[in-house]
Amino acid sequence: MTINNIKANKIKELVINWHITEACNYKCNYCFAKWGKPNELHRSLSAVDKLLSNLSEYFIRSDSSLKAKLKYDEVRINIAGGEPMMLGDTFLNILRLAKKKGFKTSVITNGHYLLNNKINLPENILDMVGISFDSQNYATRQLIGRADRKGNSLGADDLKVVLMELTRTQKGIKTKINTVVNIHNWQENFTELISEIKPDKWKVLHVMPYGSDELLISDEQFNSFIEKHRNESLSIYAESNLAMTESYLMIDPKGCFYQNVSNISGYKYSEAINDVGVEVALKQVNFNQAVFSARYFPIEASLCEI
Ligand code: SF4
Repeated sequence: MTINNIKANKIKELVINWHITEACNYKCNYCFAKWGKPNELHRSLSAVDKLLSNLSEYFIRSDSSLKAKLKYDEVRINIAGGEPMMLGDTFLNILRLAKKKGFKTSVITNGHYLLNNKINLPENILDMVGISFDSQNYATRQLIGRADRKGNSLGADDLKVVLMELTRTQKGIKTKINTVVNIHNWQENFTELISEIKPDKWKVLHVMPYGSDELLISDEQFNSFIEKHRNESLSIYAESNLAMTESYLMIDPKGCFYQNVSNISGYKYSEAINDVGVEVALKQVNFNQAVFSARYFPIEASLCEI
């Protein structure tokens, strides 16, 4: 979960990140979406239905102490991967179910399946979309691994087409671009592109030490990228390694909560939410709402609002 729009200890929206699959058509060298080919929950629609019901009951319908404390108005299920759109109709059914159970919906995608109608999104099924986009240069995207086996890769013009189509079919959709800054793109200038497409948010992430260390850059290199793009019209939000390792609570493809643990490499996982329920599963990842509130309010306010 992340918290958005914090005002006077009240948040507008609570976000649950569900990584539904580790499958992806791209092969980014920094990708950390690896769970060792698990038995993914989306293979059973009734299991998906049960998970969404459990989450809806706890986060939306019940008067949990968490809800009383955070006073959020809405809960958004953010579907991530892997590449969620590779699941085709299953992905669409998950969105439909989530809507039916009262969630706002969003997806994090590499955009590939949105081009040339490879997936047929129903109208108004998404409230928000995050598209990962790391370079306007094809050769750079190849170096990063942002291409499929045939060499297809979402370029800047494709990105514009995809965003235009989404804005047409998804009324009021909020758009976000995610850029992972690494050794291959830290000197690139995105000002013109981002000024033109005007996403609601451009989230810029410092590449994490995962997978290929050849991609890593220093804090100075990352900061120079931020400085170059510091311009009010770009809506840039930077995220440091610290915020990335400590500010998310997520669900894995098997339907278990998992969380980074400070100073320890790897993750802590709960049992399956469908087996033990949301409350017990949250406790198993040491979820503590007092710590959660104290830790998350200042983190979001200070690190992400650059
Ligand atoms: S597009 Fe995302 S999920 Fe796919 S390989 Fe790249 S980082 Fe991983």
